[in-house]
Amino acid sequence: MDSFFAKTVGINSFSFSRSAKARITPATQVNGAAPLGVEYSQLMNAISNNNTKHIYLKYGGGDGTQGSYGAIDLDGVKSGGASDFTSWLEYGYSGTLKIGDDLLPVEKGNMAGPTASSVSARYNSCTHFQGQGGCTAEHYVLDCPRVLKVLVIEKIGNSYVKIKGFAAFVLEGIGENGEVQGSYIKYFESGSISNGEYQAAQDYGMYHIGLSE
Ligand SMILES: [Zn+2]
Repeated sequence: MDSFFAKTVGINSFSFSRSAKARITPATQVNGAAPLGVEYSQLMNAISNNNTKHIYLKYGGGDGTQGSYGAIDLDGVKSGGASDFTSWLEYGYSGTLKIGDDLLPVEKGNMAGPTASSVSARYNSCTHFQGQGGCTAEHYVLDCPRVLKVLVIEKIGNSYVKIKGFAAFVLEGIGENGEVQGSYIKYFESGSISNGEYQAAQDYGMYHIGLSE
C-alpha cells in the first residue's frame, strides 16, 4: 500500500492481508524513552497555542541535590541515581513504559554534570542536515539521536509522576545549569495496537502504525 501516511513517515510500502486494516493511533507504550517528562496540561496548552518550541524537558539550577528538576526514575526504583539517569538519557530506557503503569518516582537533585555529558553526546551524534545545523524542529530524521521520546506526565505531589502518554522532541542542546530544552514534533513508529488501549489514549503526537484484524 502506497499511502499518504507511508510517505509522511518514510516507509515505502506496507503489505498486509485483505482482512487487516492499517491504523494509526496514539502510542500507549514506548521503548527507548528518555527519563524526562512534560506535564500534559503544559503540552496541551503549547499545542493549542502553536507555541511548541524550546519547551523545558528538564529544569536547571546550580548544584541542587534535593529539589526536583524533572529527572524521572524509569525503573521505578528510587535512588538509581546519576548512573541510571545518564545511561537512559544518552541511550534511551531499555524497558517498555505504558500508560497505566505504577507511579514513577522523581529523582532528587539537578545532576547537571551527567545531564550535560549525556545530552551533549546525543546532540553531537546527529549526522543529518550538515551545514544546516543538523536536525531541528524544521528538518529532522525520526531515528536521529537528537529525537527524544519523553513521558507526558501528571505530577502527583512533588515526588511522583503518572504516565499520561508519550511525546517526541528534537533536542536543542544543554543549558549552563543542567536545563534541557526541545521542540515538539510528531513521531510515528510501527507498533502493536489493541482495540481497547487506543481508545483510552489521548493524542500527544506520538503514534503507532499497526495492523488490526
Ligand atoms: Zn539528526
